[in-house]
Amino acid sequence: MTPFEGLHGSLQEQWVKCGKPGCKCSRGELHGPYTYWFVWDYKRECVTKEYVKKADVASYRERVRIYQIGQQLQKQFNAIGWWQCPPELMQWIFQR
Ligand SMILES: [Zn+2]
Repeated sequence: MTPFEGLHGSLQEQWVKCGKPGCKCSRGELHGPYTYWFVWDYKRECVTKEYVKKADVASYRERVRIYQIGQQLQKQFNAIGWWQCPPELMQWIFQR
């Protein structure tokens, strides 16, 4: 994976119940927060979520941010008649 590769979708933190009887979460003290990556699944036509390991949260966050910046840039490029942002340019931008 290249460092400037974007990730669509969004990250959300959620508190969860594990469902074990007698666990603190059954008394309302939920576990978490856990981070999930929410993304539209085109094949199944629904939103899916995927658990993001704590160690990966920072890089997911960064990649989602890059994707959003990329979307903004793409609009600018479309406006001047480039239909795709050249990958070399994206690389240059995100390595600043
Ligand atoms: Zn629990």
